[in-house]
Amino acid sequence: MSERRQGLVVAHLGKGLAVEGPDGRVLACHTLRQLGSVAVGDQVLWEPCGDDQGRVVAVLPRRSELLRPAHGGKTRLVAANLDQVLVVMAPEPEPDFLLADQILAVCEHRDIGAVLLFNKIDLFDGDAEVESQLQGYAAIGYPLLRVSVKQGAGMSELQAALAGKTSMLAGQSGVGKSSISRALLPEHDIRVGHISALSGLGRHTTTAATLYHLAAGGDLIDSPGVAVFGMADMTPAILAQNYRDFQPFLPRCRYNDCAHIKDQGCALREAVEKGEVSDSRYRRYLKLLEKLPNLRPGDSR
Ligand code: GDP
Ligand code: ZN
Repeated sequence: MSERRQGLVVAHLGKGLAVEGPDGRVLACHTLRQLGSVAVGDQVLWEPCGDDQGRVVAVLPRRSELLRPAHGGKTRLVAANLDQVLVVMAPEPEPDFLLADQILAVCEHRDIGAVLLFNKIDLFDGDAEVESQLQGYAAIGYPLLRVSVKQGAGMSELQAALAGKTSMLAGQSGVGKSSISRALLPEHDIRVGHISALSGLGRHTTTAATLYHLAAGGDLIDSPGVAVFGMADMTPAILAQNYRDFQPFLPRCRYNDCAHIKDQGCALREAVEKGEVSDSRYRRYLKLLEKLPNLRPGDSR
């Protein structure tokens, strides 16, 4: 077993995985079916098999898993070992704070950190409502970065926030995610080309996640689509528990499975009344409840 080596999964290819060894070399690997799902970001053990090919024989324990709903009520692993998600927003398109709240709650649920990244500050006129929402997030403990990738403003703070971590960009379309990736990854296209060229695994599919090493340190997992932040496995009580600002009040609700919709015995509603919890966060929580799939009758308390 001395031939076993550790590696990092950097892409999903047509029929296998691209695995990077400690020397930085990327190798095409097949994986044993009985290992179950292996995702970009996974640390694996592999052994050589054939020319310039490997076989993944074990997946090392993960510190986080990001899942996406799949057919038949199942879930699929999108990325492993993510440290943080950067929720990208901008003055244009108009910020979707509901989507931001959803992503933040899913990250909290999955033990993945989150940072707010307000891009296109060159276009920001200081709109009071947007400014107050942004400061609200900072007040409940989410780091808030303001950048203009177009003008290069705030980029060294962004690089510092990414260094030493595995991150993913998320958010509405048009906020600048691809522009930010391009700015952080000068060698982007070269690496994609290199991974695609790996023997025997077929073309790299653009729908799959890929891990890139950033020029200034840290890794970025690129995964298209916001669908990965689905809430299929959440109940109202679980959703509320994943609102950082709600957490201190929840143990005082009269019912364990309180959905925090009705006044009676609800400590969260009381906190909103008193202004201890942001009214707009609470109102968006009520909207997110409507997106939950399995609202049981008991949850409407
Ligand atoms: P994505 O859909 O989130 O990947 O967004 P894109 O990266 O495609 O950017 C959408 C549009 O916003 C493009 O036209 C970019 O040139 C523009 N954009 C990105 N960053 C900035 C910025 O900092 N300032 C301005 N003014 N425009 C930007
Ligand atoms: Zn309650």
